[in-house]
Amino acid sequence: MSLKFKEPAPITDHLNPLESMMQRFDEAANILGLDESTYNALKSPEKAVIVSLPVTMDDGKIKVFQGYRVVHSSKLGPSKGGIRYSMGVNLDEVKALAAWMTWKCAVVGIPYGGGKGGIQCDPRTMSDGELERLTRAFTGAMRDVFGPEKDIPAPDMGTNPQTMAWIMDEYSKLVGQASPAVVTGKPLVLGGSLGRVEATGRGVMVSTRSAMAKLKMTPTQCTCAVQGFGNVGSISAKLIEQQGVTIVAISDVSGAYYNPDGLNVEEAIEYVTKHKSLDGYKGGNMITNEELLELDVDILVPAALEDQITEENAGRIKAKLIVEGANGPTASTADKILDEKGILVVPDILANAGGVSVSYFEWVQNRLGYFWTEERVNRRADRIMKLAFDNVYKTSKKHKCSMRTAAYVVAIEKVADTLKLRGIF
Ligand code: GLU
Repeated sequence: MSLKFKEPAPITDHLNPLESMMQRFDEAANILGLDESTYNALKSPEKAVIVSLPVTMDDGKIKVFQGYRVVHSSKLGPSKGGIRYSMGVNLDEVKALAAWMTWKCAVVGIPYGGGKGGIQCDPRTMSDGELERLTRAFTGAMRDVFGPEKDIPAPDMGTNPQTMAWIMDEYSKLVGQASPAVVTGKPLVLGGSLGRVEATGRGVMVSTRSAMAKLKMTPTQCTCAVQGFGNVGSISAKLIEQQGVTIVAISDVSGAYYNPDGLNVEEAIEYVTKHKSLDGYKGGNMITNEELLELDVDILVPAALEDQITEENAGRIKAKLIVEGANGPTASTADKILDEKGILVVPDILANAGGVSVSYFEWVQNRLGYFWTEERVNRRADRIMKLAFDNVYKTSKKHKCSMRTAAYVVAIEKVADTLKLRGIF
């Protein structure tokens, strides 16, 4: 019998999100004058677990998947962060994403540390049954890592409320009691929170509005391009459009769609709901995802993958304002170029923190056993986002640095203070 092993595509990209994260961490650590011991304690993740998950596929064959969960920090509270299903998942990526969650939770002042998980798989080619078995296997393997007071997953790229429902169910069975607070981003009937699905996009919109006010930009006179049309991209586009901004370009894996007179986002969302992607969408002319980033627009919202804005294309970006809906869409090597061009960048760990903020509300509601109205959720989430924006903006003025560095300064200072108070033996 000849066995044919097909290795997953190698990560050939020279850009590494962990290096990008560390670069920014170092910059902020210098501004703060962080001592060496604190620096070392903060940069290494507390825990990294790698598991092999054998799963019976629909054709009866067994396939083994690699799963990861990294707890970067639990100093401010239980670690919090999503689970990603994608072929690109690898340990360095998960480590970077876990650290970003620590900084993100600290920037918006919610009582969580940071973690992230991922499984190397292509969810679009798997059946619901296969995804369910994979998710339950992962939950079983992470039984001692997850916990409502320990480590709380949520959706990320390639996962959704259904995935969270399976995790909640499997974990509850394993511990022998209903445990809704072990995971957030659940369907409403299982203890999810109103407003959670829209929360990240809503936070991106609130950040965009705050930044536009600082730059004295009038929404009705502004254009915006949004890269990525998943949960974050589509809802950001819809809510930014509702502010009066003209959305001239959107994109997904099928390509980018450009209409200088403005697209109808609601229609595009309906199209995607029906066709699963923007493929064949006629609301705009097709351009490439690269061209979208370089369009002559006022606002650019990268809400797709990591490392989309690099030292190679940063010089050609024309937007005055970039609001990062994705995690890590700008490689650290592009930061200086964007700064020198005078572009205001609202960094990921601030701009997309609306999601985890409402995850926090979901967890609180689960523990209270009492559910809030959507108005209350949105009002409180908007307040968190506005306060965090103002704090980071003020810090960037104080240290004469970018908002990105300022966000790291705010976050690292908070976690470092907690570390000192709690002590290291
Ligand atoms: N995956 C989301 C993020 O990257 C949400 C995490 C959460 O709600 O825990 O922020």
